[in-house]
Amino acid sequence: MSFYDAAIPPVRDQRLKIGDSFAGSVCEMLDCAKSGCMLRRNRSFWQTGACQMALTLMMAATVERSAIVMHGPIGCGAQLHALSAQTNKGKAQRGKQPVPPPWVSTNLKESDVIGGGERKLRETIEYVDREFRPEIIFVVSTCAPNIIGDDVEDIVRKAGESAAAHVVSLHCPGFKSRVVASAYDAFYHGLLRHLPLSPEPWRDFVPHHDGAAEELGKLKYEYIRGRTVNIWNATSIGPKDEDELIRLLGALGLKARVFAEYASADEMRMVSQAALNASMCDVHDDYMLSFLKEKFGTPYVMAGMPIGFKGTRRWLEAIASRFGLEEDAGRVADYEERRAREAIAPFLPEIEGKRVLLCGGVVRVGTEAVFLKELGMDVISFRAYHYDDGAEEVYGQVAEEFPDARIAVSNQLFEFCNQIKELAPDLVISHNGTQGTLAKLGVTGVQLFDADKSFFGYGGLFYMLRRIVFAFRNTSYQKRLSARVKMPYRDSWYEKDAFHYIKD
Ligand code: SF4
Repeated sequence: MSFYDAAIPPVRDQRLKIGDSFAGSVCEMLDCAKSGCMLRRNRSFWQTGACQMALTLMMAATVERSAIVMHGPIGCGAQLHALSAQTNKGKAQRGKQPVPPPWVSTNLKESDVIGGGERKLRETIEYVDREFRPEIIFVVSTCAPNIIGDDVEDIVRKAGESAAAHVVSLHCPGFKSRVVASAYDAFYHGLLRHLPLSPEPWRDFVPHHDGAAEELGKLKYEYIRGRTVNIWNATSIGPKDEDELIRLLGALGLKARVFAEYASADEMRMVSQAALNASMCDVHDDYMLSFLKEKFGTPYVMAGMPIGFKGTRRWLEAIASRFGLEEDAGRVADYEERRAREAIAPFLPEIEGKRVLLCGGVVRVGTEAVFLKELGMDVISFRAYHYDDGAEEVYGQVAEEFPDARIAVSNQLFEFCNQIKELAPDLVISHNGTQGTLAKLGVTGVQLFDADKSFFGYGGLFYMLRRIVFAFRNTSYQKRLSARVKMPYRDSWYEKDAFHYIKD
C-alpha cells in the first residue's frame, strides 16, 4: 500500500533515511548517511524539541475561508492566538482578505482520555460547519487522541459526507517524530486525501457543445497549461520571495502560481492543471510533488533553493530545461547577475573574510553557505536541524565547496551555545527563534529567513547582503544585552565538547 492510501501519514523518521545527531566534516556526514550509520546516532541527553503539530497548524491557518478544529487538550491550540496576526498579514500581502480562521477546540479532559473523545469531535465538526460555514474544516489530531486511539479518520470521513465544508484531517501526534519537517507531510497528506485537486465542470469551466468552439477552447487552455508552473511555498517563504520567482519565470514566458499556503479551495482544484511542479526547497514538498506525479502525471523539479548566484541560476535552469528554454534562462541569469553584481559591489569590502556560523533547515543552510562564499565570507561551520537523503545533492556541492568545514546535525540549543563559545564566529545566521540567544551571547546575528523580507533570487541576495552589512555596523544591542544577562549554563558545560552527548 502506498503512503498516500494510508489514513495516517508516515512521519519522516519512517519514510526517509534521516539523522538528527551528528558532528564531523561534510564528507564524513555524507559517508555516514550513505552507510546507514546516521540512523544509529542518538544522544544520551536531549533538550526538548519543537512539536510538529505547531508547524502543520501554521500552514493550515493560512488557507483561505477555512476553520480549524483542534482535537486535543485546549493548550495545543494556544499558538493560534499569535498565528492570527502573522497569517492576516500574509493574506493582506497577497491581496487576500485578512480574516483569521475561526478555531475551536474539543478541549479533551482527563475523563475524555479514559472514555474517548470521538463524540466531542463529531459534535464539534458539526458545530463549526453550521456556525461558521467555512469552505474547509481542518481537523488537527494532536497527541492525546493518537495515544488513546480515537478513530479520527473515520469521523472525518463520515462528517465529510454530511458537512457543507470539505473536512480535512491533519494527523499530528507531536510525540511521534523527532523531525519537525514531518509537519509538511501531515499537511499535504490531508490535502491530497480530502480536497479535490481537479477542476469541476460548470464551477471551474463551461463545457462547450459546439464542436469548433470546444476545440479552440481546448487548444487555448492546453497552450496555457503547457506553460504553467506551480511553485510550492512554506511558512518560511514570504510574498517577496514568491514575487521574485514569479518575475524570473515570467521572463522565460512561463506562468507561475503559488501553492499551497494562502490558497483557497477554489485555487487548490487547479493544482493538477500545470505542466510542472517546482519545489523551492527539497525539505518541504517532496511528499506532495511525488503524489501529484503519481496521480496526475505532472513532472516535478527539485533543484535546491534559489538563493545566491549559483543557487538561483541552477533553480532557473532546472525549470527552463523542462520547456527547452535553457538558453533563455542562461541569458536571463547573465543579465540579472550583471545588475546584481553592480549593486552589491560597494558593500562587499565590509564583509570580506568575516567568519560565519550557519544554522537552520538542512537544504537552506547548505545553499546559503555557497552564497556566502560567493560574497567572500568565510563559512566556518554549519548546523542543520536534521539530515535526510533528499539533501544529498545539495551537500554533494557543499562538500566540493567546503571540503574542511565542520557540520553538526543538531536542533539542540545547549549544543549551539557551546559551539558559539568555542568557534567565536563574527556572525551567526540562524532562525528567528534563536536571535535572542545570540544577542545574550553577545554575537552578531542575522535571520536565516523572515516571511516579511526578501531572500530568493537576485533581489533576495542583494537584501540579504544589506542585512548582514547593517548587522555589523550596529552591534550595540548585543553588547549591552550580553553584559547584563547570564546564560543558564555552567562553565563546565563550555569546557566539554559541544557534541559530548552524541552516541553511536
Ligand atoms: S500535546 Fe502533543 S500536539 Fe499538543 S502541543 Fe504538546 S507535543 Fe504538540
